[in-house]
Amino acid sequence: MSERPRPKRILLKLSGEALMGNQPFGIDDNVVRAFATEIVAVHNAGTELAIVIGGGNIFRGVAIAARGGDRVTGDHMGMLATVMNALAVEAAIERLGVSARAMSAIEMPSVCETYVHRRAAWHMDERRVVVLAGGTGNPFFTTDSGAALRALELECDALLKGTQVDGVYSADPRLDPTATLYETVSYQEVIAKDLQIMDTAAFSLARDNSLPIIVFNIHQPGALARIVAGEAVGTLISG
Ligand code: UDP
Repeated sequence: MSERPRPKRILLKLSGEALMGNQPFGIDDNVVRAFATEIVAVHNAGTELAIVIGGGNIFRGVAIAARGGDRVTGDHMGMLATVMNALAVEAAIERLGVSARAMSAIEMPSVCETYVHRRAAWHMDERRVVVLAGGTGNPFFTTDSGAALRALELECDALLKGTQVDGVYSADPRLDPTATLYETVSYQEVIAKDLQIMDTAAFSLARDNSLPIIVFNIHQPGALARIVAGEAVGTLISG
């Protein structure tokens, strides 16, 4: 298997959906514990980690908009959902003996720290895992955009997007049996072939700033550690 550069500082994007496990809604404690174990393993091996958490397991703003409700209110609710998930992940990491800090883009000082760029960077320098909630802090964005933004702000070497599938395929593997998994793909190919990696705003931010993205299966045990060790796991999207 081919090798890749070893990322020293990473931003891991965990979707809310991933935290749900087999439940139809909410947080599955066993799944959160399993992710925390993987995160702690790479932290203990020396990697600096920031995690951006989604909220789709609890609430998405577009759902309220689809029912004729106010999108901005819905997005505020979605961002609050990410805070719940971040607190669950922070607690699970700390239970395993590693210091973690949930930081929210929306101020709620009695619950967790507010995201401040220099403070988050300092936590990472101090070997704490930062768990970032609230996405970008603005409606009409997603936590994928939050992930690309924070990865750039915190000077991460790569954005690791944990998904339910093994990486980026030439077509939807659930619909097309001939679909093949890409080991690497360029930003240009992603656009030309209309491959679905993340929403356009998030992808543009990554591409315009040459931020490498690795899409991998978050449910595959050991995948995170192998990526950090430089193994070609999942799909690398870069220039
Ligand atoms: N959200 C938002 N601004 C952001 C990030 C998230 O308004 O910068 C809201 C939006 O309503 C979104 C919800 O929070 O649907 C949950 O985030 P997302 O859908 O990205 O979660 P995921 O799909 O990763 O679980």
